Amino acid sequence: PVSIMWFRQDLRVNDNPALNAACDMGKILPIYIYDDTTPDGRAPGSASQWWLHHSLTSLNDRLNGHLKIFKGDPKVLIPKIMESIKAKAIFWNRCYEPWQINRDKEIKKQLIDSEFEAYSSNGSLLWEPMKVLKKDGTPYKVYTPYYRNGCLKIEEPRYPKAPPARITYADDEYKDDGLDALNLLPEIKWDFTISKMWKPGEEGAADNLSEFIQHAARQYKDGRDIPSMKGTSRLSPHLHFGEVSPNQVWYAIKDKFGATEDKSIDTYLSELGWREFSYYLLFHFPTLPNKNFNDKFDKFPWRKDAKALKAWQTGNTGIPIVDAGMRELWQTGYMHNRVRMIVGSFLVKNLLLSWHEGERWFWDTLLDADLASNSAGWQWVAGSGADASPYFRIFNPILQGEKFDKKGKYVRKYCPELKDLPDKYIHKPWETPGVIAKDAKLELGKSYPEPIVDLKASRQRALDAFQEIKG
Ligand code: FAD
Repeated sequence: PVSIMWFRQDLRVNDNPALNAACDMGKILPIYIYDDTTPDGRAPGSASQWWLHHSLTSLNDRLNGHLKIFKGDPKVLIPKIMESIKAKAIFWNRCYEPWQINRDKEIKKQLIDSEFEAYSSNGSLLWEPMKVLKKDGTPYKVYTPYYRNGCLKIEEPRYPKAPPARITYADDEYKDDGLDALNLLPEIKWDFTISKMWKPGEEGAADNLSEFIQHAARQYKDGRDIPSMKGTSRLSPHLHFGEVSPNQVWYAIKDKFGATEDKSIDTYLSELGWREFSYYLLFHFPTLPNKNFNDKFDKFPWRKDAKALKAWQTGNTGIPIVDAGMRELWQTGYMHNRVRMIVGSFLVKNLLLSWHEGERWFWDTLLDADLASNSAGWQWVAGSGADASPYFRIFNPILQGEKFDKKGKYVRKYCPELKDLPDKYIHKPWETPGVIAKDAKLELGKSYPEPIVDLKASRQRALDAFQEIKG
């Protein structure tokens, strides 16, 4: 019998439970559908589209050119393809975005009603959200008990599977739309630096994982906070598109370092846990991307300020660590986690702009843009989320810069107009004495912007606004 293997956010051949199950049944027709009807305003942003294009190219190579690519509504396309190739069954790995869950349920029902078989597997999470619940049967809302008492106690994550011993392909004559029909590449070429830095696909994912294990894993606990260092694994876009499974990452680390007491290893595994927690929250609270988790924040007096938003987006706020982060994002499609927290806090607290503005910008510009991690990350920063950073904890971007970018290496890389400033002023150029500024060719307001807000006053304004909703 022939089956369809429907690739979605699992663009890999290794450790792919649905692919293994499909191949066990016989011949397969591997397909990918760019769903342009269901996403509910959540079609991939420009950076994700770029990644997807290259990831599909890479998957197609892994499948020796057999991947069929379509654009349209899976609810219409799948039954049509199944009829026409006389497929008996379809296999996929589950996705957890609310719009995908609803669509998949509909498709499954429709297929089963028409006497097709439809099988779904877990290919993207270490622990499925429906299996981890508190004793009273309700979902956890706080990370540590979720991870330590829930996940780690219920079961060990599944060990990764070997790829299918053999893949036999069904009728290759079936006409697809082809990758070019998806139109995923940018018209204006902004991807030069991005292409040099990233290698979408299974091979690129494996390279980053092994580089991390060799060079950074043991120092992760401290290294992860230094944005000028390659101290983290850079696996987030690969994990988002499923070019590597979290199980492969989890066991690559465990098998290498064993049952160690090493804090760095434990911290890294627990970051994978944060990814799980984001998916968990999205699954149990599907309004996470759109609504404040804590509804007290519905009354929060967010400002509207197009000029300030633009300055933030383009990295021209006059606060060096914030500008460096926003420019890193624009140039590389990535931003270091520590800096995501700093630019986020600056947007929602110092500028008092809604976290949705930040979430949307990240959605369009991050290569790892992920509905679960992005919404959870922004709600955490805003203080409106589950287990969020308390609202009154407002990052001081100068102190953050001085602590995590001591010598200003990161700022100098992305704000080259500040590169000649002494370390002492690199995070507060407005304090540079005249002669020194002149030597460093700094003309505040000309070569580099003046700060767009007063950090102290805007901090107080945020605290006052918070006091209002708290009362
Ligand atoms: P590592 O430090 O090597 O961590 C390994 C993996 O663990 C990551 O690849 C990621 O999958 C997971 N992880 C680590 N930290 C977190 C976290 N805080 N939350 C969830 N998962 C985590 N991550 C995304 O993948 N997509 C997003 O759209 C996204 N948006 C964010 C928005 C904000 C405001 C914030 C504060 C964080 C966001 N994150 C997001 C989480 C985190 O910043 C990135 O996952 C991380 O920087 C990716 O780099 P890495 O792969 O080198 O991470």
